[in-house]
Formats: sequence, structure tokens, C-alpha cells
Amino acid sequence: MTPDSSSSISPKGSASDPCVARAVLQSPQAARAARGRAHFYPGVSDADWNDWRWQFRNRVHTLEQLATMLPFPPQERAAIGGVLREFRMGITPYYLSLIDPADPADPIARQVVPVAAEGASSSDGVDDPLSEEKYSPVPGITHRYPDRCLMVVSNSCAIYCRYCTRKRIMAEDVVSDLDLQRMVDYIAATPAIRDVVVSGGDPLTFATDKLDRILGKLRAIPHLEIIRIGSRVPVSLPMRIDDELTQMLARHHPLWINVHFNHPNEVTPDAALACDRLSRAGIPLNNQSALLRGVNDDEATQLALVHGLMLMRVRPYYLYHCDPVRGADHFRTTIERGIEMIESLRGHTSGLAIPQFAVDAPGGGGKIPVNPQYVLAYDHGRAILRNFQGRIYEAQDPPDLPGGSMPPPRLANPAAGVESLAPGGWSNEKQSHKESSPPSAETGWVHPRR
Ligand code: SF4
Repeated sequence: MTPDSSSSISPKGSASDPCVARAVLQSPQAARAARGRAHFYPGVSDADWNDWRWQFRNRVHTLEQLATMLPFPPQERAAIGGVLREFRMGITPYYLSLIDPADPADPIARQVVPVAAEGASSSDGVDDPLSEEKYSPVPGITHRYPDRCLMVVSNSCAIYCRYCTRKRIMAEDVVSDLDLQRMVDYIAATPAIRDVVVSGGDPLTFATDKLDRILGKLRAIPHLEIIRIGSRVPVSLPMRIDDELTQMLARHHPLWINVHFNHPNEVTPDAALACDRLSRAGIPLNNQSALLRGVNDDEATQLALVHGLMLMRVRPYYLYHCDPVRGADHFRTTIERGIEMIESLRGHTSGLAIPQFAVDAPGGGGKIPVNPQYVLAYDHGRAILRNFQGRIYEAQDPPDLPGGSMPPPRLANPAAGVESLAPGGWSNEKQSHKESSPPSAETGWVHPRR
């Protein structure tokens, strides 16, 4: 990148030129990022700003540093200090520059700046909400699904998200080479594993040669087909995505990267350039976002986010219900709100831009896709369907095939019934209320959800 990153990016160009959409270059987010840099870091040279090591070294990680950058109520100081003794903080100068200091509800700040609520003793959350450690045959590996596993190679990230499911491991001590080798050995000794997610922490915060060694060991395992990396670095430290890194990654194909954008203000020219470089290295990019109260739990934000992702050639992949992690109660919203987010997208943008809403089941049950109800009834080959406007249609199966019907729910142990996903279980009253209005194919009746 040449010194002035925002003006050096080309919207078009030859096949080897970086390519950032004009809509991103000229967006309010681009202007906000430039303003933020001038506000927070006026004296920093372009050479330093665009150096990912400088960004990493100069992260805001103490209460004193934070207080010089962002105003926060003095009465919260003690509570935030208490939070930081338990959960570390880290904010790169780049990510900090995306914050509007005049907005007390800024969605970027909310993700990385600790608040007193994080330390509230009334938290319902737990340290390991997905029971990753229960399914860990060796430290660092979570093996929940038969053909794939998670490999946690790092306890360090460029930024520390206050809602992170793995807050418990963010101690920033190094995962030892011995532990890394044990993880590789486990995968090598388990022929059923054909797909590994290399995550953390954030693997892209490693020095390039270290990550190269890990990927090389994985690639040498004959039965391992796919390597996926989970990283928030294109969002939080986009200057890390340099030529040395992308050339190294391209030697380990087939390689996929799951990125983690949560808000359209994160879609900046720098982030788009990072995504472009990864795409040009032949790496498909998919986005996994978390549904966070006060950050992205409204329709306009979700629509702007998925459109920004599409401009960067990043496929919206998952929208996760926020996990019940300790200290993150203030980020959690309802499953119903997640369904509403998906409903608000369907029909209002391309199907390619719509992520799958999913709840990661507590206790290690895995990802459960949760969808708006579009099939209202299906019996004897006759389906009653609802479209995105809430209008009702009837579709018939081919007459020469035996007509199907709505399958009953499949429970592993029907006698045990449905396990409660929340304290107190499901509200029967709420369920029956939602099911109380029958559809009518004749009248073009509009479903009450809309
Ligand atoms: S970057 Fe990812 S792993 Fe790191 S704190 Fe944020 S959500 Fe957690």
C-alpha cells in the first residue's frame, strides 16, 4: 500500500491491481475512518500507520490509555478496572479510528470498549458456553462433528471483543510448540477428520513463518482435505494482509477464510483492500457475524452490512445468536429478533447476501439453523407456503409421485422430550399465541408477522 491508503486504492485497474469498489471508497464509512485517524492519531506517519506491527504494538490495552482517548463516566472507572483485571482489552489504532467519540452508543466502541455491565455479578453467562472443553480430546482441539474439528492455535487477537465466546482463553500466553504438535498429531491419527478450522485467538496475528509451519504440517496429513482459518484481522488490522502473507497462504490450498464483520462501519477501504488481497490469492471469504444488541440488531444495519460484504466479495455465511458467555448479557437479544433479521433481508436483497441464522446449542449440541417459517403446512403433496411479503401460496407435488407431508420433529430420544435451551424453558403461552392464526390460501391473507 502506498502512503495514503485511502487514495491509493483503485476502483478498477489491471488484473493485478488492487480492486476496491467505488461504493466503498466513496462511502460515509471511508470518510469516517479518515476522520477518526486524524482525530485520534494526528501525528502518526503513513509508514507507521500502514505497518501492522506498529498497529499491534500500539494497541490500547490499559484503562489509563483508554481514558485519554475516549470519554467514559468517571463513576464507571472502578467497575471497568475490575473488568480489565479479568478480561483483557486490546484495540488497534486502526479499529479505534472507526469509533465516533461523540456517539455514546457507537457500535464499534460497544464491541471492544469494556463497560461496567460486563462485570455485573448477575450475569447468567458461563465461561465455556459451547462446552468446547468437554469435546476436547487434546488441549486446543474441539472435536464435535465426525469429519471436522476446531484447532485453537493462539490465545491472542488483534482486538478483544467483549462478547467473545472464548474470552476464557484470552490470556495472551503463547500456545506452546508442544501443544501445537499434539493437535497436529491428533488430526493425523484421526482419519475421519477431513476438514479443520484453525482459529483461536487469531491465527493471522502470528508471524508469517510460524503460521506457514503450522499449515505445512496440516497439509502433510493425507486425509485432511480442507483447511479453514477463522480470523477477525481483515476487520481489526487489515494492514496485516500483505503480499508475504497472501503468497504464503496460497501455498496451502484448498484454504478458506471465515472473517467476522459485524457492522457496516467496519467496511472501509482498508478492510476491502485486505479482502481483495485474500480473494486474489484464491481464498474464498465467508463472513460469520454475531447478532449483538445495540450493535447490529436492527434491519437497516443488517441490510447495510450484507451489502457492504458483497461489495468486498465476502459471502454472508452465518449470523450467530450471541452465546451466553459470562459478562456478555448486555449483548444478547432474543432468538425471535434473529429470525426477524433474516425475514427483513429475504426478498429485499439477493439470496446470495442472506446469512444463515444459527444458535450454537448450549452443552455442545452444535450449530442449529433457525429460519423464519415459510412452509405453513404440507400434507398429501399439498404445501401452503408464505412468501417474503407474507402472502400465502399453494404448491402441489407432481401427481405421479406419492405426496409428501411435513415430517414430524426428529428427536434423538423422543421419550426425553425437548431439552430446555434457556432457564425456565420455552414459553408455552408464547408458542401457542404464534400458532393461533390459520393461513388461508384463498384470500391471499397476510401473515401476522409482517
Ligand atoms: S477476534 Fe474473534 S476470537 Fe478474538 S476476541 Fe474477537 S471474537 Fe474472540
